[in-house]
Amino acid sequence: MSETGIIDGKAFASTLCGEIARKVGKLKAEKNITPGLAVVLVGNDPASEVYVKNKARQTREAGMNSFEFRLPATIGEAELLAKVQSLNLNPEVHGILVQLPLPKHINESVIINAVDPKKDVDGFHVINAGKLATGQEGFVPCTPLGCLMLLKATLDLPGKHAVIIGRSNIVGKPMAQLLLRENCTVTVAHSKTKDLPAIVKQADIVVAAVGKPEMVKGSWLKQGAVVIDVGINRVNGKLVGDVDFGSCQGIAAAITPVPGGVGPMTIACLLENTLRAATA
Ligand code: NAD
Repeated sequence: MSETGIIDGKAFASTLCGEIARKVGKLKAEKNITPGLAVVLVGNDPASEVYVKNKARQTREAGMNSFEFRLPATIGEAELLAKVQSLNLNPEVHGILVQLPLPKHINESVIINAVDPKKDVDGFHVINAGKLATGQEGFVPCTPLGCLMLLKATLDLPGKHAVIIGRSNIVGKPMAQLLLRENCTVTVAHSKTKDLPAIVKQADIVVAAVGKPEMVKGSWLKQGAVVIDVGINRVNGKLVGDVDFGSCQGIAAAITPVPGGVGPMTIACLLENTLRAATA
C-alpha cells in the first residue's frame, strides 16, 4: 500500500493570489487601472454571506476594488436586472458576480445572462459556456478552473480517464469540457447513473461534485487514482467533502482535503478572472 499524497489547494491558492497581487500592483503602476469586482448578494442566506465576505476580503487583499451590494430578498426581478445593468455600464467594475442561489421568485438564468459576458468572471453566461464548449477563449467557471490547475500540477492529463460525478452547470459540465480540452477521456456520472462504483473503478481521475457527504468510498477507486473532492457539506458543525477521505488512504495516489483543497482555489480563480477582465 503506497501513501496517499495531499493536494494542498490552500498553499497553491496562496501562491496564485500572491502572483495576482503582484500583477495588480504592476497594472496600477503602469496603466493606472485598479481591477474592480462587484458582488451582489440578494437576501441573507448564511452560507452565501460567508462566501461573499471572504470574496470581498481577498479581493481587497489582492489590491483590487471590492464593491458589495446587499439587496433584500424581496427585491423584484426588474429591479435586480436594473442593478446588473448599472454595473455593466460602470467603468470601475471589471467583474460582476451575482451570488447564487437567488430567491425563488427570480429567474436565475435571466439574471446570469444579463451580465455583460466581458464582465462575467463567474463564467456562467451562456456565451461563456458556449465558448468553453466550442474551444474559444472566454471566462471559465472558477471552481472547475481551480480543479484543473490542481490536476495539472499533480499528473499528466492526456489519455487519462476522468470520471466526473455531477453534471451541474457550475461544476460538472464545465469540468468535463476542460478535461476534454486536455485530451482526457471523460465520463460524466449523475443521479441516474447505474452502478456508480463500477464506473468510478475505471477512473484515473475522479472529480466528485455531488453534494452528498462522504458518498464516494475508497473501495470504489482504482489503485493510484487521483481524487478531487469539490463537495462542501456541513455535518454536525464540521465541513466534509463528497469523498470519504479516510477510506481513500493508501488507495488514491493523491486527494484534495476538505477544507483546504478546492475551496481556496475557487476564490483565487475568481481573482484571476477579474484581473483578466481588467486587462482585456
Ligand atoms: P448540484 O446540486 O447543482 O449538482 C449535484 C450533481 O450531483 C447533479 O448533477 C446530480 O445529478 C448529481 N448527483 C446527485 N446525486 C447523485 C448520486 N447519488 N450519484 C451520482 N450523482 C449524483 O451541485 P453543485 O453546485 O455542482 O455542487 C456540488 C457540490 O460541490 C456541493 O457540495 C457544493 O457545495 C460543492 N461546491 C463547492 C465549491 C467550492 O468552491 N469548493 C463550489 C461549488 C460547489
